[in-house]
Amino acid sequence: MHFTGTVYRNPYWPTWPLLEITQGCTHNRCRFCTMYKDVPFRMNPPEWIEADLRELAQSDPDASTIQLLSANPLCMTYDKLAPILERINHYLPKMEYIYAATRVTDIRNKTVDELKSLREMGLREISLGVESGDDQTLERVNKGYRAADILEQCGKLTEAGIDFWMTFLNGAAGKEHSAEHALHSAEIFSRCKPMTVGTGGLVLFPGTPLLEDVARGTFTPLSEKEMLIELKTFVENLTCDCAFITHHTVSGRNLTGPDFLRRKDRIVASLEHEIRHGDLDRAAAVRRSKRSL
Ligand code: SF4
Repeated sequence: MHFTGTVYRNPYWPTWPLLEITQGCTHNRCRFCTMYKDVPFRMNPPEWIEADLRELAQSDPDASTIQLLSANPLCMTYDKLAPILERINHYLPKMEYIYAATRVTDIRNKTVDELKSLREMGLREISLGVESGDDQTLERVNKGYRAADILEQCGKLTEAGIDFWMTFLNGAAGKEHSAEHALHSAEIFSRCKPMTVGTGGLVLFPGTPLLEDVARGTFTPLSEKEMLIELKTFVENLTCDCAFITHHTVSGRNLTGPDFLRRKDRIVASLEHEIRHGDLDRAAAVRRSKRSL
């Protein structure tokens, strides 16, 4: 199999086969991200993809699920992507569920009809590292789109019947804009109605522009307590029913699971408990020990 650089798989499906169809990230300019700094974007040559599918057909002929790599494989136009999905179905005839992480901007170059066609070929679920629904924060971290783009592109996914995750990056706005980041994100996420909302806490990795902003005094990171307060504001204002998962460093009980609206009060109570009684020094140490998003 061809794999380039560090492989990031969805941790919730640790056994799914992986197929790399692109390398790196077309954007590679988010101001907090180091994931693909050493991997220039490139589409994998068709002969690599064909060889990898032949190998998967040998090793896992009954595979019904697969994750496409790398950062944003759906950047390809429909005309390039559809033949790859056709080859997946050819080599793995029991395929039912194709998943990929990708960028909001990757949906722009596809019509709803093209998205529906990709769904019929098995593309069922997409993870969008949205990070925020607040324009000032999106600009601050250089995501390369605005809240209106999120609404428009997620609307197309809904119309096409493709399920999607949206992630909220807790702490991305710093102290300066924390409340707006939480409130505007909750509003945009609620309007998009994703199947899953994931939250992760900001880590300031060496070499990132955001860490340089900290040194210059133009970005003030949240403390662990302030991260939790921001997350609580986000949760309190999130109104869509979805699964809710968190990779937050504080291991509050009752945070991750399905049926968000039914569990919302318990999640808020758990966050309140962590804010008052959590071991925030330990949480800060866990965050400092992280080496990658
Ligand atoms: S956060 Fe995602 S979109 Fe942004 S540079 Fe990293 S991999 Fe690319």
